[in-house]
Amino acid sequence: MTAQIVDGNPIAEKLRKQLAIDAGNFTSKYGYKPGLGVVLVGDDPASQMYVRMKRNACEKVGITSYAHILPADATQAQVEAAVRSLNDDPKVHGILVQLPLPKHLDEEKILSFISFEKDADAAHPTNIGLLAMKGREPLYKPCTPAGAMIILNELGVTISGANAVVLGRSNIVGMPVALMLMEANATVTICHSRTQDLQSYLKNADIVIAAIGRPNYLHGSWLKPGAVVIDVGTNKIDDPASEKGYKYVGDVDLESALPVVSAITKVPGGVGPMTITLLMVQTVQAAYRIAEQTERA
Ligand code: NAP
Repeated sequence: MTAQIVDGNPIAEKLRKQLAIDAGNFTSKYGYKPGLGVVLVGDDPASQMYVRMKRNACEKVGITSYAHILPADATQAQVEAAVRSLNDDPKVHGILVQLPLPKHLDEEKILSFISFEKDADAAHPTNIGLLAMKGREPLYKPCTPAGAMIILNELGVTISGANAVVLGRSNIVGMPVALMLMEANATVTICHSRTQDLQSYLKNADIVIAAIGRPNYLHGSWLKPGAVVIDVGTNKIDDPASEKGYKYVGDVDLESALPVVSAITKVPGGVGPMTITLLMVQTVQAAYRIAEQTERA
């Protein structure tokens, strides 16, 4: 079997084209651009790079980004004040707090300060809670899991009735993607670091979502022939052969998986491009929602 290696870029590009039209229509109608507010605490180079990438991507589609960059020793009160000022700023429609935050900060409290209406990254507990409830709809969905679901749909995968195994149970990937798969009528098993005999679950999995952050951990021989694999893992490893001396790999060992699975996402370039795109899509949705509410008031 020759597996399809799934590139997220063309899927994201299609969404970004529509996004640029929607953002442009918003600007023509209301006279200002949709705005994304970002809070970054500390000088972690990876987080700084993500924030830069988000700003550039926003500019390309006609969204203005506003960054609050705070030092690594910022106090809880300072970070909460940054979130509050974005909540109160009428030019800001979506808010992202770049995670992880330094350990001395109370992440849960900071995320719960984000205005529910502006929670374009779905980090607020109410949005996650609504996602977990049958028959309820959150205002916004966590971007990486939503991106993974769009890729499955683009591939034409039948999710209803499929056996799906999610590796990882984090608040930002594993847990919400499992909820979304369940909502799409898959039979979902969530595996984590305490799961005994992971392979016994994987061998029956039609869909595998890998989000554990362990380079090349899953061997192809553990997977069901024909499975569709979304590899969310983005792990930096040494690579003396490359100019930079490092490269990024997924949680799945691609070489051994390719002869077994029917499709697997690229790392990097699979789910990654979807995450930022979905953040922008939900920021524009927030802009329309807030502007229409203001008009009605
Ligand atoms: P995380 O918070 O560290 O969670 C990792 C999860 O994996 C935990 O639930 C952990 O179990 C589980 N786990 C660890 N080792 C395991 C093992 N051997 N077998 C089964 N489960 C295991 O990580 P995260 O934030 O969800 O991120 C996961 C990966 O996705 C990372 O590589 C990250 O860089 C990547 N990511 C990519 C994007 C993107 O846009 N492409 C976005 C977000 C994250 P316990 O709960 O028992 O500890």
